[in-house]
Amino acid sequence: MRTRTILTATIGLMALLAIAATFRPARVSPAGQPILEKPKIMPTENQAPAAEVPQTEEEWRKKLTPEQYHVVREKGTERAFTGKYWNHKEDGVYRCVGCGEPLFDSAAKFDSGCGWPSFYQPVDDGKEVKEEVDDSLFMRRTEVLCRKCNAHLGHVFDDGPNPTGLRYCINSASIDFEKRGAKSGDSGPADPKKP
Ligand SMILES: [Zn+2]
Repeated sequence: MRTRTILTATIGLMALLAIAATFRPARVSPAGQPILEKPKIMPTENQAPAAEVPQTEEEWRKKLTPEQYHVVREKGTERAFTGKYWNHKEDGVYRCVGCGEPLFDSAAKFDSGCGWPSFYQPVDDGKEVKEEVDDSLFMRRTEVLCRKCNAHLGHVFDDGPNPTGLRYCINSASIDFEKRGAKSGDSGPADPKKP
């Protein structure tokens, strides 16, 4: 009631101040509550990445190989034991092929024997991935996607090893491996004095 009184008063005052037709009243839901406009999110934290994520299917096709596109955009699955990372054991980080976000670390990779790269956890406590129920193929599975660009990555099962008991079964086609220290040009931690 108070809200409505204030709203009415506000509208009355504004109507007096602006008799011109430029005034637009606040949108109101059927329940009578004003609908708050969602604030526009501006990319302040990361300046560049916005351009890195393909926006149209054409851009996706341009960025990915046909097989990567099929897996990432059409939720396909590469055949077991055919991807480039199922038996890959180097030390480094696996990044999303869509947007380049680091998703999995070789430290959490384990030999599951299933023919796909398997990890017992994503990097950063899973902040970079999201999970959705997948009822396709006559079974209920949990799909794993990149949170940033929505790329289909694979599925997560609860038959993994300790410490999580989870098995993130990921398509090689969805990830790109980056050897640890490769970007700085040499191995070892980066010099803290350098930017
Ligand atoms: Zn991504």
